[in-house]
Amino acid sequence: MHASNSISHLSPHTLRSKIIEMARSIGFIRVGFARVEPLEREAKALKEWLAAKYHGTMLWMERNVEIRLAPDHPCFLPQARTVIAFAAPLPRSPSLGPLAPLRIARYAQARDYHRLLRKRLQPIVELLEKAGYMARPTVDSAPILERAWAQRAGIGFIGKNTMLIIPGVGSHVLLCTIVTTAELPPDEPMGERCGSCTRCLDACPTKAFPAPRVLDARRCISYLTIEHKGNVDPSLRTLMGDWLFGCDICQDVCPFNRTHHQPAGLANELHPDPRWDGVSIGDILLLDDERFDLLSRGSPLRRAGREGLVRNAAYALGNLREKRHLPVLQAVATKDPSPVAREAAAWAIEQIRTWPCPSTGKSDLFRG
Ligand code: SF4
Ligand code: SF4
Repeated sequence: MHASNSISHLSPHTLRSKIIEMARSIGFIRVGFARVEPLEREAKALKEWLAAKYHGTMLWMERNVEIRLAPDHPCFLPQARTVIAFAAPLPRSPSLGPLAPLRIARYAQARDYHRLLRKRLQPIVELLEKAGYMARPTVDSAPILERAWAQRAGIGFIGKNTMLIIPGVGSHVLLCTIVTTAELPPDEPMGERCGSCTRCLDACPTKAFPAPRVLDARRCISYLTIEHKGNVDPSLRTLMGDWLFGCDICQDVCPFNRTHHQPAGLANELHPDPRWDGVSIGDILLLDDERFDLLSRGSPLRRAGREGLVRNAAYALGNLREKRHLPVLQAVATKDPSPVAREAAAWAIEQIRTWPCPSTGKSDLFRG
């Protein structure tokens, strides 16, 4: 492809510098460049992970494995030479107001970031195209191993909790890439820096890491609250704690997240979704399809579905032994159209009622 535009003469070094400059001005806090080459280590790990069925019901992960491992695959971008990785920080977690003490993973508290990041990448895509190259942006949606490429592009390293960690910033970041046919000078990959630390592995309530950097998604609260449909095995639901959507525990305990880094740039545009202001636990439990649709359009929370959110709220209240929510749980247990939600509410009621009283050791059923 040849550019008719005046920037077609830019040297790879100048183009790289221009991209870095643009990325910074757009609000990305890190940008790095990796040469497209076979991801051999990641290929082996991905195939073993799938063979172990750690992906649970996320069957789409079994598809496009070859494309996932090679951005220059004929079905993605043949002649791809470089993956440019970008990171944007997430804003700090605000208080969840009436939803407290239930918790929502930090990334999900803002409106859906996919569209915003894609829009922000567009000027860089156009720059590459004007310079005569092809460029394809990815924001979670395309089958690209974004963390692996970000590590190769020197942005950060992959911690034992499987997250990309940026020293000085932490792991609460959003990643996206541009795959391009431009051959741009690459960065040095970043080596791992966990050392002997095992905090994330030890802190996981469901013991979802069979080994460092290996996640059994079927046990992970993020998977259970978002991807898993239907009832959750009772032995796992008691370990799900107070999470309504997602889980941040293995990131929050990481020393690399104890940073004074002030989220800036794009983080300022990822504000908490104002539609959720004032939404209470009772509102979640009594969601109907129409209200769910209004609250979740363009929000990551949509992925759990109405039934999933009601179920998760009931499990969390059961785990918290939140007695004051018994009346609304009773309404869900008898009237919700979903058998999954009804069962979850009945389970929560049972948990609350049979929980031993801290002072007498007797369950609520026997009180007064
Ligand atoms: S997100 Fe939560 S449940 Fe999943 S691995 Fe991390 S700590 Fe465990
Ligand atoms: S908690 Fe420790 S082991 Fe886990 S990712 Fe962070 S530094 Fe690595």
